[in-house]
Amino acid sequence: YCPTGAITIRTHVDEVWDALADPDVRVVAQVAPAVRVAVGEAFGMKKGMSVMGKIAAVLHRMGFDEVYDTTFSADLTVMEESEELLERLRRKEDLPLLTSCCPAWVKFVHDQYPEYVHNISTCRSPQGMFSAVIKEYYRDPRNTGGKKTVVVSIMPCTAKKMEAVRPNSFTKGKQDTDIVITTTELIRMIRNYGIEFSTLDPEACDMPFGMGSGGGVIFGVTGGVTEAVLRRLTPVHEKAALDAIAECGVRGDEGIKEVTVPYEDMELKICIVSGLANARKVMEKVKNGEADYHLIEVMACRRGCIMGGGQPTRAGDRTKEARTKGLYNADNNMILKKSDENPLVLSLYDGLLKGKTHELLHNKES
Ligand code: SF4
Repeated sequence: YCPTGAITIRTHVDEVWDALADPDVRVVAQVAPAVRVAVGEAFGMKKGMSVMGKIAAVLHRMGFDEVYDTTFSADLTVMEESEELLERLRRKEDLPLLTSCCPAWVKFVHDQYPEYVHNISTCRSPQGMFSAVIKEYYRDPRNTGGKKTVVVSIMPCTAKKMEAVRPNSFTKGKQDTDIVITTTELIRMIRNYGIEFSTLDPEACDMPFGMGSGGGVIFGVTGGVTEAVLRRLTPVHEKAALDAIAECGVRGDEGIKEVTVPYEDMELKICIVSGLANARKVMEKVKNGEADYHLIEVMACRRGCIMGGGQPTRAGDRTKEARTKGLYNADNNMILKKSDENPLVLSLYDGLLKGKTHELLHNKES
């Protein structure tokens, strides 16, 4: 629910339990990056500790048939959004490119700056891309096993519930993400299930989509999308190059960060924003011709999804810092750092996505 009590957000936990109890339904979960650094603290674990393995374990025990990490589709988002940026730079049109993975920001542009709607990336969010890919996979009669597939998305965000029912993100006229629950709803489910979460042994995600890169993990923190895109745009894979990107100004919890990075024969001008009040300041500058960015990343929540409206509330500075650190540590622990290194993503382009990238990964209109 809304912490101010101004709006009541409907809970969807009962729908999830109903789906899990139905033997004719395959229930597939996807878990967003920011969720893993907020669940542990509710069960007495260290603040900001990444508990993705325990989340996979508890979801498997509850009866989820497959558990996936949304970092996989964050990698897909990076691939598509990088291409879109390069294409707009070539055309010198529809710049700055505005990121599209935060639904609250997308709605803000539609409501407050409608003249910039065509600047919004057409890419679906990682939630939208993943659900479309899962549904497409299970459209194949060889994979269905006679079951209906229900996709449950576990997000740090109440706005993701609204995003899931937006018809411009449907595939073949149908909703791809069936149920969205927040981190707090997941915590409630774990409590109701009555399992000792902190003692669970960690488990891996499932195949065929169970692998993500560090670039996908850092989507949960402000600047993460930009950092992942810059990793994608750099042709090299060496640690020194990735460290230089991390230190170019993309990190840090300031509400507005400006970064200029060399790319081929030009200087790429990027603005990274968190918080809608800051987004308004930046958009006013753009509107008045006082700024000429190529890319603007906006997350409506200050510090990004780690502080989303679906995360446990009353997070003080120590918690905010710990969640940020938790995601960067998770990135440090990943073998793959760049989205274009993810072999499952690359093989998807040669298989399931062939001729369907626009249909499955992009919104009909932004
Ligand atoms: Fe949701 Fe906030 Fe993340 Fe935007 S920044 S996607 S509103 S949690």
